[in-house]
This record gives sequence, structure tokens and C-alpha cells, in this order.
Amino acid sequence: MANILVVEDEQDLLQVMSLKLRREGHSVFTAENGQDALMKVDEYVLDLVILDVMLPEMSGWEICTQIRQRSAVPIIMVTALTGDQDIVKGLDLGADEYVTKPFQLQTLIARVNALLRRLQWDRDVVEKEVDDLKRSITGMVSHELRTPLAAIMGTLDLALQEAFKDNQDAQRDFIHDARMNVLSMRQLVDDLLTMVRIDQGLELLRRPTLIHAEIKRVIDLYQDHFREHHLSANYTCAEELVANIDHFLFRQILQHLFFNAIKFSPEGGQIWVVAEPLPGGGVELDVHDQGCGIAPEFHEKIFERFYQIEMNDHRHHEGLGIGLFIARELARAHRGDITLISAPANGSIFSLSLPGETSDTSDET
Ligand code: CA
Repeated sequence: MANILVVEDEQDLLQVMSLKLRREGHSVFTAENGQDALMKVDEYVLDLVILDVMLPEMSGWEICTQIRQRSAVPIIMVTALTGDQDIVKGLDLGADEYVTKPFQLQTLIARVNALLRRLQWDRDVVEKEVDDLKRSITGMVSHELRTPLAAIMGTLDLALQEAFKDNQDAQRDFIHDARMNVLSMRQLVDDLLTMVRIDQGLELLRRPTLIHAEIKRVIDLYQDHFREHHLSANYTCAEELVANIDHFLFRQILQHLFFNAIKFSPEGGQIWVVAEPLPGGGVELDVHDQGCGIAPEFHEKIFERFYQIEMNDHRHHEGLGIGLFIARELARAHRGDITLISAPANGSIFSLSLPGETSDTSDET
């Protein structure tokens, strides 16, 4: 069943408790003092510690504090003191339960079993959450990858058909559509790889980066999207603005901020970008859109991994819900951040700040 450590200096009581717990099917380890108890906490994989308060040398309180510094194992304090203050003290120090002396063995066993059941329940909940997460990732990835793949196949089949052999315009349109789908798949694969890099710890490669050239590059990249939705994109940025940042990561941040602005812009909307230098070789960049805006209670949530922004009209937005998560993580890797100014019906401003090298030399190797 469970691995239980019993810490008790009264030999008789220790014997009785151990015997009873063993009869319940548990594996029991014993300790008669703090030093021995801490050694066993380090040595064994324990599910529970039953800890007496009144012990020689090191008190149960002290042992409880020290166990908490090294392990999250549940602790039941056994105290002869019935004052509420002692109970509160024990819970403050990280104990999960308490039993007051003198106690019926049955009471102790009932507490032990209740605590173990609750732990198992907690574990089941965590496992279920992990399973749900895995399932939804698998579902999203397969949907996001298979849908464009099917579209590409269909488009290429049409382009190959005899009927379009001599119609170059139609052929060009179909191939253009196929290319757009390939690009969105490539973006998805890149995002997933970036997410893995974020989890493994990003390394920055700072170098002087010409900001206006990067903005222009991203606007060019999304030309087709702008045209399709009749959007216009403009920027204000000094030609000579150079920031000492990781330009590859900066480009990814920009892409996600732009893509987000495109996704939520109304037909014919405007997106504009304002970039300014930060002291010490950094850059601050605001992306404004005329989208539906975001209520304050979602300002943090939208940066969560896999968060899907739900709109009033229940429109389905493509993507995994990792773009803003990635953008913020990449900003934070620069010791910067992305903040949001937005209110429903008023559009949004995503404000990116990337400090330069001077405040952050430790990233350089
Ligand atoms: Ca004692």
C-alpha cells in the first residue's frame, strides 16, 4: 500500500503503531529522533510521515520544517498538546494533518487512510489533467496539420486537371492557395519547435539589428493576408534605429504580434507599428490594431499556452493558441516583456519591450 515513516521516541507506542499500520498493509519505517528521521526521508521514497511533536534533541516542529525544505511528503503531526495554537503552528510549518494524544489507534489509522485516499485522488486529478492536455494537443496538432494538407492536395489535384491545362491564371491561383497552406503548416511546425526550445531554455545570440528592416520584412511576409482582408499596415520607426537583440527571435515575436493583429482585425482595418529606442541599446515596439479589443480579465490569459481566444461571434480561430505565449517567452528571454492595453470595442496595443545588452550582460557567452 503506502510507505510510511513513524517518528516516535516512546518505544511501546512506536511498536503498537508500526504493528497496526503493517496489518493495514503498509510498509513501515521507524525513527526515534530527528536526525534518524531526516536521514530516512532522504533515503526512502515515502508516501507519509507520522511525526510526534515531543522528541528529544530536535522537536517535531523543527523536523517538520526541515522535511519541508527537502520533500513534499504528507505529514501527520502527533501532539499531546490540544491547544489550537499548536495545531495552527503545525499546519503553518507544513503539516497536513494532526492527531492529538492520547488517541485511539483506530483514529490514527482512519486519518492515515483518509490522507492517503486524498493524495491518490489528487494524483488522479493531475494525471487526468495531463491526459486531457495530451489529448487536446494531439487533437489540435492533427487538425491543424491535416486540414491544410487536405487543402493542398485538393488544390494541386485541381491544378493538375486537364481542364486547367491552358488556363494559367486559374493554375496560378490554385498554386498560390497551396503555397499559403504550406506556409501556415511551416509556421505551425516552427512554433512547435520554438516551444520545445523555450522549455529547454533559450540561448540568446544578440547582434545589432536594424529594426525598420525587420518590420518591413514581416509586413512583406504577410502581404497576402493584408490583401485578402483589405488591411493596411504602416509603421513609424527611425531608419537608423538599431537594437542589440537576437534578431531571429525578434523576427518571430514580430510575426506573432502581426499575425495576432491580422487575425482580429476587421475587414479593411488598419494595423500600425511604432518603434522607439530604449536606453542601453534596446527597443520598444507597439503594435496597434482596430480589432474587437480584449476585456481586462483576459489580458493575462491570452498569453497562456494553448489558450484559444473565444470571440463573441464564436468564430473559430485557426492555430494552436501558442503564438502570444511564444512571443512573450521570447521577450522574457531578453529580460523584456509584452504588455497589453486593450478594452472591448477599442482595439488593442501590444507593447513589446526588449532591453539591450547593458542591463543583461550575463546572457552573453
Ligand atoms: Ca514523544
